[in-house]
Amino acid sequence: MFPVLGLGHRFYTRSERHGVVHSARIIGAVLGFAMLGSIFLLPFSNVASQGGQSQSLFSIFKFFIDNISSVQINGVNNELVTAYLYQLGFIMILAGSFVGLFPIGSGVLSVIGLSFITIGPYEVTSGYSFAQSGFSSGFYVIWALAIVEVMLGIWVFLATREKEDSLARQMRANASDVAASARVCALCGANNPPNATICINCRAPLR
Ligand SMILES: [Zn+2]
Repeated sequence: MFPVLGLGHRFYTRSERHGVVHSARIIGAVLGFAMLGSIFLLPFSNVASQGGQSQSLFSIFKFFIDNISSVQINGVNNELVTAYLYQLGFIMILAGSFVGLFPIGSGVLSVIGLSFITIGPYEVTSGYSFAQSGFSSGFYVIWALAIVEVMLGIWVFLATREKEDSLARQMRANASDVAASARVCALCGANNPPNATICINCRAPLR
C-alpha cells in the first residue's frame, strides 16, 4: 500500500512518476479524513474525565473550552497548562487533518500538535510518567496517521525532485545536441539549423 521511504521514487519509470505523486496526494487526503474522524470518534485519553473514562480529542478540547474559566481561577497550575496544551494540540491536529492533499504540511502540523500533548506533560508535571496519561486508541491512531503523512510528504518531495532532475537533464541534453549539430556561419558567426545550406543571417553559403 505504501512504498518504502526514500526508495519509492526509484521503483517507477519517469512516465509513471506523475501518477505516483498524484496518488500520494490522494492517499494523504484520505489519511487526513481518517485523522479527522479519529479526532471526533476515537477515545483519546481520560485527561478531562472525572470518571477516568477515555474521551475523544474533540470532547477533551470542548471540555477545556467550556471549563477554562473555572480552571483559570486556580492560577497557573498543571491543569491550566495541560488545558492550553490540549487546545493548541487540537487546533494543529485539526488543521493537519484538513491539508492531507499536502501530506508534508499535514504531517508536520499534526506531529507538532501531538508533541504538545505527548511531551508537554513531562514539562508541566514533575515525576510524570507516560502511564499516567491514560492515552487510548485515538492517540495511537492519530500518531500513526501523522507519521505516515510525514513519510508520504517526503516521498512526494523526492518523486517531484527526481522528476524535475530528469526534466533538467533532458533539457540540457537537447540543448547540447542542438549546439553540436548547429552550423556556425564562417562569415557572420550566426548559428544555423543543422540542415541549412545558406546562412539564415547573411545568406552566405555554408560549407
Ligand atoms: Zn552568415
